[in-house]
Amino acid sequence: MEEKYYEFRHWGMNKHSAKWTKDYIVDLQKSFYHEKPQKFLGGYWSPTAKRLYGLLDEEDRVEVDKKISLIGSDRESIKINDELDCPKCGYKMVEKDGKYGLFYSCSQFPSCWSSMPHPDNPNPKFEKKPEPIEKSDMVVSNYYSYHTKFNGKKVKSGTPTTHEVSFEGDHKNYIIKTHGGRQHLYVGDKCNFSCKKNWEGDYVINRKTLTAWDRKGNQIPGKYRNRG
Ligand SMILES: [Zn+2]
Repeated sequence: MEEKYYEFRHWGMNKHSAKWTKDYIVDLQKSFYHEKPQKFLGGYWSPTAKRLYGLLDEEDRVEVDKKISLIGSDRESIKINDELDCPKCGYKMVEKDGKYGLFYSCSQFPSCWSSMPHPDNPNPKFEKKPEPIEKSDMVVSNYYSYHTKFNGKKVKSGTPTTHEVSFEGDHKNYIIKTHGGRQHLYVGDKCNFSCKKNWEGDYVINRKTLTAWDRKGNQIPGKYRNRG
């Protein structure tokens, strides 16, 4: 049997085996589940896992659903510190390994947001809000539009979508957030823009700051462009 692949951009690769994709989704969900309990703010899905899940066919979805439904049982292994009571609500504190390392969190999270430093990580280094980064003369080397990533399926205008862009001589992953599947940039376009790093490590381009020129040096008017 021929091996099945899904196409999406990750670590500079475009094709990933179905098995790798499924395992990756489950891993993303595992870490997401422990950071943000179900039904909490961002919802049940890790944003990247959700995007990848959208690529899967029915058969693979069923398999991933099964594995994801088992993730909750891992929560039994949560480390409760019997000697530490929450200063706000009196319930026990639990040890967690978060974005900034080990810490104690109230076992009643998200009802109670109390947290305490962990002796092994007494001074967690919290990141400051990222400052916008200005970029100029960036030449598009690749543009993955929503409908390319999602196997040619058309997207209704108004659907929140994330387009991925890469630039020559730059190995970071840039994204343009928009509504709908319209492609904004083409290979060879030159751009100036400001962007910010998000919590996933992608650079989000602020579309209001985006100025672009096509290969012939003509400025691309407005936020939308017509081609072909
Ligand atoms: Zn509490």
